[in-house]
Amino acid sequence: MAQVPAFKLNDGNSMPQVGLGVWQVPNGEASAAVKEALAAGYRSVDTAAIYGNEEGVGAGLRAARVARKDLFVTTKLWNDRHGYDDAQKAMDESLRKLGLAYVDLYLIHWPVAGSDRYLDAWRAMVAMKEDGRARSIGVSNFTQAQLQRLIDETGVVPAVNQVELHPGFAQRELRAFHAEHGIATESWSPLGQGSSLQHPVIAGIAGRHGKTAAQVVLRWHLQNGLIVIPKSVTPERIRANIDVFDFELSAEDIAAIDGIPEGKRLGPDPDAFKG
Ligand code: NDP
Repeated sequence: MAQVPAFKLNDGNSMPQVGLGVWQVPNGEASAAVKEALAAGYRSVDTAAIYGNEEGVGAGLRAARVARKDLFVTTKLWNDRHGYDDAQKAMDESLRKLGLAYVDLYLIHWPVAGSDRYLDAWRAMVAMKEDGRARSIGVSNFTQAQLQRLIDETGVVPAVNQVELHPGFAQRELRAFHAEHGIATESWSPLGQGSSLQHPVIAGIAGRHGKTAAQVVLRWHLQNGLIVIPKSVTPERIRANIDVFDFELSAEDIAAIDGIPEGKRLGPDPDAFKG
């Protein structure tokens, strides 16, 4: 079974560097995907309240009979729950649906700059870490300016910023800011929702290594020190996406993928997105 490296977070906790993403997985299918993933060696699952599948994820976790201490479960606070008290209620709803007493990582899903309540949400997250409902706390889709404001106003540095990141959308400046502040970068849509897999540079490298394009893209993330959460509901892809620890990309391979010109975002612009 795959041995996934543990990634050390700035609060002393560790998370697996590869996890299963479950956005767009219907609640009724989430249990099977999670079970399949855990059987393949995954120990980390990334869901969110808005995905509507926390119950299915929880069922899959229970069915796999892996000890809770060995699991790493992430969920996220949705955009309309940023008030201090409401965020706490939203957390309890997520825990009830997941059937868990705590999550390993709780993220503010989007900053929702227009409503400007993410500082309240962050203060609620800090309280949830203190009372044990979240082992680690972080954010998603935050810009440098928003991260800086969180740090300046609360003194608590997020453990993670989960952002759109794939070849051709490499977020170099933001990654440098994260490194400077000890924030782990977690790549969402690490496969570019499948679009990165067609690129001729990646196909060429995959051919030379005898690996799939997805495995090459995931190695690029891992060798760049990024945490990845590829989504799949296809058993053979779920297995292949974690079977990436028996080869290494060369410095030339990495440079070639780094050289793919920067394209457009697949998802919304965090400064504009209201949810
Ligand atoms: P991914 O980049 O993970 O791509 C998923 C797509 O690629 C699916 O269509 C999947 O198909 C396909 N795929 C997966 N593995 C392979 C493979 N080995 N070969 C070929 N195709 C493959 O996209 P996501 O947008 O789902 O991102 C991953 C996760 O990131 C999400 O599930 C979610 O957890 C998180 N996320 C977070 C966001 C945020 O705002 N914080 C926003 C978006 C995503 P199939 O399932 O049919 O196999």
